[in-house]
Amino acid sequence: MKESIEQLKQTRDLPDEQLLQLIDHQGEDTALFEAADQVRREHYGTDVFLRGLIEFTNYCKNDCYYCGIRRSNRCAERYRLTPEQILSCCDNGYAMGFRTFVLQGGEDPRNTDEAICSLVDQIKTRYPDCAVTLSIGEKPRSSYQAYFDAGADRYLLRHETATDAHYRRLHPAELSLENRKRCLFDLKDIGFQVGAGFMVGSPGQSTKELLADLRFLQQLQPDMIGIGPFIPHHETPFAQEKPGTLELTLRMLSILRLMFPYVLLPATTALGTISPIGRELGLKAGANVMMPNLTPTDARKNYDLYDNKICMDEDAGKCRGCQENRVKSVGYRIVSDRGDVRR
Ligand code: SAM
Repeated sequence: MKESIEQLKQTRDLPDEQLLQLIDHQGEDTALFEAADQVRREHYGTDVFLRGLIEFTNYCKNDCYYCGIRRSNRCAERYRLTPEQILSCCDNGYAMGFRTFVLQGGEDPRNTDEAICSLVDQIKTRYPDCAVTLSIGEKPRSSYQAYFDAGADRYLLRHETATDAHYRRLHPAELSLENRKRCLFDLKDIGFQVGAGFMVGSPGQSTKELLADLRFLQQLQPDMIGIGPFIPHHETPFAQEKPGTLELTLRMLSILRLMFPYVLLPATTALGTISPIGRELGLKAGANVMMPNLTPTDARKNYDLYDNKICMDEDAGKCRGCQENRVKSVGYRIVSDRGDVRR
């Protein structure tokens, strides 16, 4: 890579052609990682924020072609946690220092607005110093408003891909990019801290689609960006597709850090699945968030989005300890903090 670190820090101002070249770059990415790490340190020092992930249901009414919990996967063993189980995950997490809980799940028709609002309210009443993040898919604006009024702070909804044609390649006809985007803009407008994102290396994705993702994110200006490699699941239409690569995912993490210096950027479980040191490399490439799993282990094994997902049978305490060591090993430190965005 010929560019100097100072030039790389101007990545967000690059025209399309040069950005395409950066995404497509072959060979050493050391300067890119270094520039991203410098920018991350300017905004967040060596802090790494934890999110306690609670995968509370794997029922889903959607049929996304890539996802292991899609409704057509008859082999999936379905579960939903009770509110008591979810609160007990939070109790456990709070004692371990977590100050953000992420409630993630499929689009489970049993999750009425009343049920979600009551859950959010119970968590916020018990732990007013914690942030609650929801990641439960596409809803009408009125539902998002109700969750926000109940006390939810953040919402994660990856846009998945920013071009219509590619969106249609990944989803059945009843899902649309237009609605996904509508959700994200509604969430922002309501006042949530919003996370978007995409899979790297999903079937049919080329550099052109990745460029469109970056341009869409510039328009949305999210607080969080979740990316990870696509990994096939054997019971989906994409069973035979190739996974996304470590190299491209790391490069995209660095480009995102340079383009969105303030952003909260997780080193994801999927990254840890394609490489045993994927999350550590992710941190070095600009990521500043880790998401240890607080889901009870017997349920966790059924939140099976893709093959060979890691951390399926570690209990929450072990998962937390393991991530602490990983973070330390690359020179950063976990802080017990809500970890709000620093714009
Ligand atoms: N239902 C919610 C939604 O649609 O946002 C949240 C749950 S969904 C399973 C969470 C994310 O998992 C998706 O946004 C998608 O990017 C990711 N995911 C699903 N299948 C995957 C796969 N095969 N490889 C990598 N990531 C995957």
